[in-house]
Amino acid sequence: MLHLECCEQEGYIGLGGSTMLIHKNDTRTSVEDKEFRIRILLPEQKCLRNARLQCSWQLKQVLRGYQHIIKQRLQHCSNLVSFMLEFKTVLEIALRNKNDLTAPPPPQYYAQLIKEIESLGWDKLAYMDAEFRTIKLKAEDSAGREHMITIKLKSKSCLIHLHSQFLAAVESLQEFWDVMDEIDEKTWVLEPEKPARATTTRRIAIGNNVSINIEVDPRHPKMLPECCFLGADHVVTPLRNKLNANMHLWSPECTVLQNLKDMLEVDFPSPDSHEKSSFSMECGICYAYRLASSIPDQVCDDPRCGQPFHQECLYEWLRGLPHSRQSFNVIFGECPYCNKPITVKMTIKKS
Ligand SMILES: [Zn+2]
Ligand SMILES: [Zn+2]
Repeated sequence: MLHLECCEQEGYIGLGGSTMLIHKNDTRTSVEDKEFRIRILLPEQKCLRNARLQCSWQLKQVLRGYQHIIKQRLQHCSNLVSFMLEFKTVLEIALRNKNDLTAPPPPQYYAQLIKEIESLGWDKLAYMDAEFRTIKLKAEDSAGREHMITIKLKSKSCLIHLHSQFLAAVESLQEFWDVMDEIDEKTWVLEPEKPARATTTRRIAIGNNVSINIEVDPRHPKMLPECCFLGADHVVTPLRNKLNANMHLWSPECTVLQNLKDMLEVDFPSPDSHEKSSFSMECGICYAYRLASSIPDQVCDDPRCGQPFHQECLYEWLRGLPHSRQSFNVIFGECPYCNKPITVKMTIKKS
């Protein structure tokens, strides 16, 4: 509850116990027993609308993020008194919100935290920030895989409980990681380059300029994943046909890799048998594999060529040819490698 006694002639405003003194242009306001001083510079016409506020850097910091509200109040208040009231309210809110964020926790907080880390084992602690608010803990699952938990601590926490909860969650994903680890070990994964534990997709090389992209469901890692082939039509079509024809061969007893081998009747090239360079699918125009975030997924359909290109590169190349033609967003031209007909569809990207 704010009580306002106004006595402008004498130059002070009493506000429910705390006083706010206006002395000439200097204004003192005390909020939560803290005293702040602001200076209000009024323009010639004494119009609040164009007034300027000056204050210490401490107050500035407290009011960071509230400038637009203060500015708006200045515009709408008819006189200095009502503005100062509004200002005080804004300041109170700003201070309250700041305190919630920055008030240091009581000493027991640190004592409890140290105790918990001690019983968890200091070797589990990977990182702690200077405020003792963010900590990273190591967690090893039953299969020996290392994980990292980042915890944003509130005033009350129980690290031991969190740690064991995390491990329990991690245990339920063991089968998924078994499946993914086998793929990472025994095949050439073209995408992503360094899969994280949370990555559910893999693009696996099948041969020169042909690969399969799979998406595994972490909750049902032994079910048939979503599959998508990348490569020239003449290579991809037979593979797709085999996948469709051999769907019944899928066995939940086997791993995803074994099932894929059986269904596609292929042996995936592995790091033991092949160099990665034998199917690095560099773009035939820019000679890079990755262009921004896209990979060369347009392939020349001529069986003797099969050269991959980035969509953007091929589009730009074909557009530059004197005898290419365009129909809507599809452009027709010739492969820069073998001169056989090639088309590319340009999907319009939002930039
Ligand atoms: Zn390219
Ligand atoms: Zn070609």
